[in-house]
Amino acid sequence: MRVVAVHPDALVVTSRIWQTNAVLLRAPRREDVDPAGAESAAGEARSATEAMLVDSPYFPDELEALPALARETGFEVEALLATHADFDHLLGRLAFPELALGVADTTSTRLRGEPGTAQRALRDADAEHYVRRERPLSLGAMQELPVPGRLELGGEELELHATSGHTADGMAIVAAHAGLLLCGDYLSDVEIPVLSPGGSIESYRATLARLAPLVEAVERVVPGHGSPLERERALRVLDEDVDYLDALEHGEERPRLPAGRDSRRQQTIHAENLARVSAP
Ligand SMILES: [Zn+2]
Repeated sequence: MRVVAVHPDALVVTSRIWQTNAVLLRAPRREDVDPAGAESAAGEARSATEAMLVDSPYFPDELEALPALARETGFEVEALLATHADFDHLLGRLAFPELALGVADTTSTRLRGEPGTAQRALRDADAEHYVRRERPLSLGAMQELPVPGRLELGGEELELHATSGHTADGMAIVAAHAGLLLCGDYLSDVEIPVLSPGGSIESYRATLARLAPLVEAVERVVPGHGSPLERERALRVLDEDVDYLDALEHGEERPRLPAGRDSRRQQTIHAENLARVSAP
C-alpha cells in the first residue's frame, strides 16, 4: 500500500492490487485558515479535522491499517463514500464498520437491484488471490445522496456530479478546497475505458464531457485506478479516452491503444468492450 499526500488535506492510499485508490479527505484545519486558531474552542478545532474516506483499498491488511493511519495523520474519519457500486470501491466498512456508506442515488438503486452481487464478486476475487477475511462484507445502512448535489465536510462544500458509462451508476466528487477531482473509474492512466454491464459508449461520452470542465477547474485528478494526475495530464487522458471510444464505436479490432495502456491486459479489455457493444 502506498500513501501519498496530494494536498495537506488529502491522502491518496493506493492498494497493492489494481492500483486501486482510496482518498482520505478532510476540511482545512482551523489553524491553517484562522490565525487566531489557537484560541478556538477545542470542539471547533476537532470538527475542523473531520474527514471522510472515499472508496477503499482491497487487501485485509491494508484495510486494517487505515484507521491508525488516518488517526496518526490527523484525519478523523466520520463518513465513507463510494464512487460507484463495483465491489472494489465498496470496502470502506471493513475498515470502519461503525460508519454508514454514502453513495449516489444511482448507486443505491443498483445495489438494491442486485443484492449480493458485490459480496459475490469480492468472494470470487478473494478466492482468486488466496485472500482470507475475518468477516464478510456488510454494506449496512447506506446513505443515499442526491446527485448532482452537494455535501458538507467540516464547513467545506464538496460537489457531487453524476457519472455513468463504465457502469450505470456513480458519482465524481470535487473537493475545491483541496483542488481535487475524485472521479471513480474514469480518467485512468493505467486502464482504458471499461464498459461493464450497465455501461455504454453514449453515456461514457456524456460523462467525459461533464468531467472536462471539472478537470479544468482543479489542480489534480485522482482516478479509481492509477496515479493522481496533474490537470494537464488528466486532460490528455480524457482526449485519449474520447479517441478510444470512437475506435470502439467503429468496431476497430486492433485500435492503437494509448501509450502506457496498451498491454495484453488492456487489449483483452478492448476485446470485451467490443463484444459488449456489438452484442444484439
Ligand atoms: Zn474499479
